[in-house]
Order: sequence, then structure tokens, then C-alpha cells
Amino acid sequence: MPRLLGMITALTASGVLLAQSTGVAANAYETYYGGYHTVKAHYAHLDDVTAAYPSLAYPVIYGKSWRKTDLRAICLTKKNAGDCKQKPNSAKPRFLLMAQVHAREITTGDMAWRWIDHLTANYGKDTEVTKLMDSTEMWVIPIANPDGVEIVQSGGATPKYQRKNANDSNGTCTPNGQIGIDLNRNFNTHHGVPGASTDPCDETYRGPSAASEPETKALQGLMGKLFPDTRGEGDSTPASADTRGMMITLHSAGDMILFPWNFQKGAKAGNDASLRAMAKDMGAITGYVHGTVPEVLGISAGGSTEDWIYDQLGVPGYTFEVGARSGECSAFFPPYSCQEGTHWPKIRPALMYAAAKAAAPYRPS
Ligand SMILES: [Zn+2]
Repeated sequence: MPRLLGMITALTASGVLLAQSTGVAANAYETYYGGYHTVKAHYAHLDDVTAAYPSLAYPVIYGKSWRKTDLRAICLTKKNAGDCKQKPNSAKPRFLLMAQVHAREITTGDMAWRWIDHLTANYGKDTEVTKLMDSTEMWVIPIANPDGVEIVQSGGATPKYQRKNANDSNGTCTPNGQIGIDLNRNFNTHHGVPGASTDPCDETYRGPSAASEPETKALQGLMGKLFPDTRGEGDSTPASADTRGMMITLHSAGDMILFPWNFQKGAKAGNDASLRAMAKDMGAITGYVHGTVPEVLGISAGGSTEDWIYDQLGVPGYTFEVGARSGECSAFFPPYSCQEGTHWPKIRPALMYAAAKAAAPYRPS
């Protein structure tokens, strides 16, 4: 689509100018299904934000997907020398938000887009945003599974229900199955426990081995560079009280705040009380229920993102299931107006809460 590419390039070139008045311009990006942004648009957005806010934004490529698409993140903070480096012992605490690891959960990429705009456009204007941006590194991965999202958006006005990545080397799954590996069952933590499938065409296919997928490996690699390990071995060992950091991975469509452990019913994290207290607060903010996956959903799930970051690094990790229990703003593909009208007003304050917790998440409040 050369015409559209031209538009995006033009916007990038003039991004600084635009930002002086109204931030990065809306409505100039490639969309599908009534307003949802394509992978190309998300990446152009990262470029434009970086150009518009050079003192606040630092772009990162942290790997390549199965189809060799760049895996991209952005670090947002009032930059001092040494900020946004991929080294664990950072001067500032870090809050990592990621979205669309499950491709068809299109609400979540939109939440990440709005979060990026919220932090940059309101710096120096909103006291709370300014304070957070001065004190904390805000890392955002808007599209953790770009290959899967490209499959979803290829449906246009009828988005495809692709959940997993695009790796078809374990089976092509035609005519009824779905190719790929469920990245949220592929992390190197309790991989292979009941609750994920060994069938390559199943929606929860865990992959041939732990962290077999390039997207998973890249996420684990990045997180390992962003956070020091503060937790010893053993499922019930707590992370140290002076742990810094916070991670939220956005999913849809439900209305839940989920935290470790997910891999087994009854398993209790060493930091359960703190994890639960923060989940309760974020549940109160959003109106969502909270608990571990076995508690809330009645299933177990090994190899999930939040189990991995807590297991390997001691950092509190949460899944937000963004959505509604019923009505037009429920399910995977709500009308685009639901993002502004229903989901964002709930998610924005919960993300602000989470970001503020990154400095000392396990400190009793
Ligand atoms: Zn999901």
C-alpha cells in the first residue's frame, strides 16, 4: 500500500511539529475493523512518538518474530543519562506493559497505544503522569505477537480468530485447526504441566519445548535484562522485600486481574499476600474480579508470562483480562468505540496504580 506508507512517512517527518500542539496526530494510521491499528500502524506510532518526544522516548528492537518481523518496545521516561539501557540494575524502577501476545485480543493493543499517548502527551501537564515519568521507566510492548496480529488484521472487516504465533512447522492445521504456538503457554516455567495442549492445532498448544518460540525467547531475554533476579528456587520461596519492578500483560476478553501461581490449583506464591493485595486494589479500580487463574477460571496454565517473570525474577506479574462480562463491549472484537468509552477509563487508572507500585511492590502499604 504505497499511498498509505507515504502518509505515515510524512507524519513521521512532521512529528515534532505536530507534537508541539496536540501530540502525535490521530487518524493518520492504517486501521482495520472500525479503527483498530495494524502492526504497521503500531510501529509507525512508536517512530512518531520517539520523534515527537525525544527527551521522553527511547525505541528498542528486542528480537525477531517467527516471520522475521521486528519485535519492538518503547521505553518512556524523563530521560537521564543511563536510562532505558537493557541492564537490570537501573537507576529508576521499571514498569513493563505488554499487549497482544494473543493476537486476536485486539482490545489490548489499543490499550497499549493509549497508554503510550497518555504518558507522553500529559508529561508536564498532569502531576501524576509527570511524577511517574520522572521517577520510573515505563516500558511498553504494544504488539508482542506481530505475526499473529497480521493474520488477524488480514481479515479486515471480519478479523481472523488467530490466537497463537505463525509458526506452522509443527503442523499446518487445515482446514479447521489453528497454526502456531500459544506463547502464553510457552514460557520456561512449569512448562508441560496439565492445562496446555500437546496438539499443534489446539488453541493452547504449548510448543515442542519450553521457550521454543522466537517471540517467547525474545520476551524472556528482554525481561531478564530489565529486572534483577530477587527470588530463590522453590515455588513457595518469596522474592526479597526490596524487589523493584512490575509487569502487566494485557489479555481479553474478560473482566479479571490474575496473578501467580497459574500453573497449579492450590499453589501459593511466597509473595501471595502482596500479589493479592495489589490485585485487590486493581480489581477495585477496574471493577474486575481478582485471583489466580485456578481460583478465577478453574483451570491451570503452565508456561504463562506472569508465572515466568515471578518465577525467574521475583517481579510481580499480572494478566489483565480486559473486557466486559456481557453486552457489546464484551468478547474479542468489540466495536472500536468501546475502547474509548468503556475499557480505557477502567484500565488507565489501574496502569497508573501499577506503575506507581514498581518502586517497592512488596512493601506493606
Ligand atoms: Zn489471552
